[in-house]
Amino acid sequence: MIYFDNNATTQIAPEVFEAMKPFLTEFYGNASSAYTFSHNSKNALEDSRAQTAELLGADSSEIFFTSCGTESDNWAILSALEMQNDKDHIVTTRVEHEAIRKLCEKLEKHFKKISWLDVDKNGNIDLQELKSVLKKETAIVSIMLANNETGVLFPVKEIGEIIKEHSDALFHVDGVQAVGKIPINLKATEIDLFSVSGHKFHAPKGIGALYIKRNVQLPAFFTGGGQEKNRRAGTEAIAQIAGFGAAGELAKNFDGHEKIKKLRDKLENTILEKIPHTKLNGDKENRLPNTSNISFLGCEGEAILAHLDRHGVCVSTGSACNSETHEASPGLKAMNVPYSEAMGAVRFSLGKYNTETEVDLVLEILPPIIEKLREISGFSK
Ligand code: PLP
Repeated sequence: MIYFDNNATTQIAPEVFEAMKPFLTEFYGNASSAYTFSHNSKNALEDSRAQTAELLGADSSEIFFTSCGTESDNWAILSALEMQNDKDHIVTTRVEHEAIRKLCEKLEKHFKKISWLDVDKNGNIDLQELKSVLKKETAIVSIMLANNETGVLFPVKEIGEIIKEHSDALFHVDGVQAVGKIPINLKATEIDLFSVSGHKFHAPKGIGALYIKRNVQLPAFFTGGGQEKNRRAGTEAIAQIAGFGAAGELAKNFDGHEKIKKLRDKLENTILEKIPHTKLNGDKENRLPNTSNISFLGCEGEAILAHLDRHGVCVSTGSACNSETHEASPGLKAMNVPYSEAMGAVRFSLGKYNTETEVDLVLEILPPIIEKLREISGFSK
């Protein structure tokens, strides 16, 4: 198996699994219980919070554990509206993950006003447009750091400064795809809320976090027991949380980003050179080091995926198309990628366990697949 779908999810690192094990077996105490046995759980919870804070350049008191990135995103937006109930305006972009996009579409049906920022053909936003839509009714601006489909990075530091200069809106950043792939330092920014998801950086599924800047009184999203300082009720999933902290520490100390980028570049450059009628989607420079989104004209992304799957190669059309409706992904549509190109898009997302041998193998397997699919579709240019 060759796993080139690390933006979808990642393998649990062996070190992470080791960190989780004691809390799946002997230390099953509830972190809220008073007896000594539960101190192991309580300590693991606070150790993980400190590791997560270190990873994000934040303070431990600003880290709140959730179940996933989607929960963190929903919490940020819905509680920001709750705490500013005199405001009804949200600013976001057309290329956000469904966790934000579909929530905002739903809120729009419930009489909230949404400004959807456009992107250019490379997937970048226009900061002048952002400035022009901010108003006193703006409760929150939600803009991702790294795009899940193309890896394109938004300049969230600059965006934060613009927001604070022109409004008193909260600034939420969906950092799910960025954490573990590029360095993060929230202290040096105007970001109020930042979503993280463990399974994108070698922690298990079912654990995420929301960073809430110290001075932001964001109301609870889950109400019940008093966990997470009354901000997120629900008995803490200590094993997942311990894994999250360990993965955070690994990510903080990881020095192989350049190696991943080299592999990604070899894969991408060879495909673009050797296979005719291929095109990169998204800004070539301003993006994550692991992601490559390539359109193969005359082919369906879904068919490429299925053929690669037969060779044990995992890639994604990702959110790149909905197989039931055959619609191009909203992200590629927003970039004005023509329908035929969007339908032939494949996302390759590499990770730390990939090797050059795997890249070379895919470069051998892929060209005959494309040739065959083009023959079937009668594609000629
Ligand atoms: N935000 C982005 C940018 C993502 O890529 C994803 C998942 O792919 C999510 C949010 C949702 O995260 P989770 O799967 O942890 O709910």
